[in-house]
Amino acid sequence: MSRKKVIAGNWKMNTTPEEAAKLIAEIKPAADKSTADVVLCVPYIDLPAALEAAKGSKIGIGAENVHWAENGAYTGEISAPMLNALGVKYVIVGHSERRQYFGETDITVNKRTTAALAHGLTVLLCVGETLEQREQGITFDVIAIQLKIALSGVSAEALKNVIIAYEPVWAIGTGKTATAEQANEVNKFIRDTVASLYGAAAAEETIVQYGGSMNAKNAAELLAQPDVDGGLIGGASLKPADFAVILEAASK
Ligand code: PEP
Repeated sequence: MSRKKVIAGNWKMNTTPEEAAKLIAEIKPAADKSTADVVLCVPYIDLPAALEAAKGSKIGIGAENVHWAENGAYTGEISAPMLNALGVKYVIVGHSERRQYFGETDITVNKRTTAALAHGLTVLLCVGETLEQREQGITFDVIAIQLKIALSGVSAEALKNVIIAYEPVWAIGTGKTATAEQANEVNKFIRDTVASLYGAAAAEETIVQYGGSMNAKNAAELLAQPDVDGGLIGGASLKPADFAVILEAASK
């Protein structure tokens, strides 16, 4: 089967609401032309402006994280029902910057994933090895553990709302990109792992993106790989001209 490509931007801690609306207006024409699904994950504070700016376009809006509880004494956190109330459809879970700087663990990634899915959000689930782990030859072990724990308790039905993003930590925001072969090799391993958990048919349908310094120059080659079903894009998603090139590459 041929899977639809999904191109998602991760704006990280960038843009005010006003800047977000302007950026979305600039991205809209290329998004509407692309055959790929387009998602922009933006800071919480930008969500209302982004949802408004994206109205009438094919851009879906996502958050960059979500708490597992519905409400309560979790200062600084945002819950899935709060995202539902705004009309947000997507959320990134387990980004390596959350794991690296904010104590995110495989267990909390699982809690966030199951809570988000229970509230009808589509989860962009990030997994990826560090450079040290790659050099130790344990990339596949790390990915399998991250994936199996993150998906623990996720039903085959709920899996349909999970997009998996392979994001090698050494390639994120570093300008170092995995080669197309490296990206495809791990993406295929992810699909095989999903097959071992949910069966071959479910694995065939699962969208597995690559993320890590994807840009206007390298997107076409990465997106041409059979197991690369799109991209999670940080830096280049803040540059409308570059993002447009990636969206075009995903349309081929
Ligand atoms: C990311 O933030 O998920 C990412 C891949 O960032 P960048 O494209 O800047 O490497």
